[in-house]
Amino acid sequence: MKKFTVILSMMLALMLALTGCVSSTNNNGNSSSQNNDGAENKEEVNLYTSRHYEADQELYKKFEEETGIKVNVVEGKGDELMERLNIEGEDTKADVFITSDAGNLHQAKEAELLQAVESDVLVENIPEKLRDVDNQWFGLTKRARVIVYHKERVNPEELSTYEALAEPEWKDRVVIRTSENMYNMSLLASFIDIMGKDEAKAWAQGIADNMARDPEGGDRDQAKAVAAGEADVAIMNTYYLGGMLNGTDEEEKKVAESVGVFFPNQETTGAHINISGAGVTKHAKNKENAVKFIEFLSSEEAQGQFAEANSEYPVNEKVEPSELLKSWGEFKEQDINLSKLGENQQEAIRIFNEVGWK
Ligand code: FE
Repeated sequence: MKKFTVILSMMLALMLALTGCVSSTNNNGNSSSQNNDGAENKEEVNLYTSRHYEADQELYKKFEEETGIKVNVVEGKGDELMERLNIEGEDTKADVFITSDAGNLHQAKEAELLQAVESDVLVENIPEKLRDVDNQWFGLTKRARVIVYHKERVNPEELSTYEALAEPEWKDRVVIRTSENMYNMSLLASFIDIMGKDEAKAWAQGIADNMARDPEGGDRDQAKAVAAGEADVAIMNTYYLGGMLNGTDEEEKKVAESVGVFFPNQETTGAHINISGAGVTKHAKNKENAVKFIEFLSSEEAQGQFAEANSEYPVNEKVEPSELLKSWGEFKEQDINLSKLGENQQEAIRIFNEVGWK
């Protein structure tokens, strides 16, 4: 009789567990629906992100369907979201912060907006050099900052390294953004790590001397300056060319078609790469869900779509890049931990100021 009661209660527990599962599955994609017992389904993860792609929304929905965890999204500019996290402090709703550039993620870490995460899944899916040394942020997409050249005026055989663009033969032929731009800070920070402060400074001086104009505009504007004949080469991120080629602006399409992509330093230290990535916020109320969410974004299932939304490279090596990116060819990357981009940021800013890179 006693045995029977035990079996009965086990069956009852199993039934309850199963009903629980079913009810949370039914709740997917519908935040206002209710569990069997009438309580609101409270499983959620709150995201602050500087990304704004439709493809991302689809991925969030997929995550909701698979886990029953509702994704609440606040979109904004990276620096504004960081400021908001700072002001909100312990009261913040945000569990996950996503932004671009290891330099920005480093700033978030330094401002104590993030916390360390232990996850075998993230360690498995994301190469070590694309993760923070203290596990506070994780790369989710990879971008390359390369040389872009005018197809008619420049023979790619004239190109070799970033350093070569600092030589006198490129005088008045180079365009690149201002030194206030984080991508450039990270680029120079990588050189500080790879070649040391003095050589990095000499490079920055050479580029400042070779500029075809005072730095202005975003990366797309550098490609436009090359297409318009203002300069022969630009240093820029490849995903902007992807955006121009896949976009609806016919002029931009023409610009992107008139330039070629050259991966520098292939015989030496590799092309500069950076990431956009995510971290769990310091005051996350849903830490477990936050980790699950970042793990999902790093998965084979999500990586292709997440990277392709901005013509970037997946960080998960099991996932292939898009056809366009493949058409530009495979390339050797800088072999440094991207934490260095943040660690050398202040030194990079000092050097830019010293050499007069506006
Ligand atoms: Fe960008």
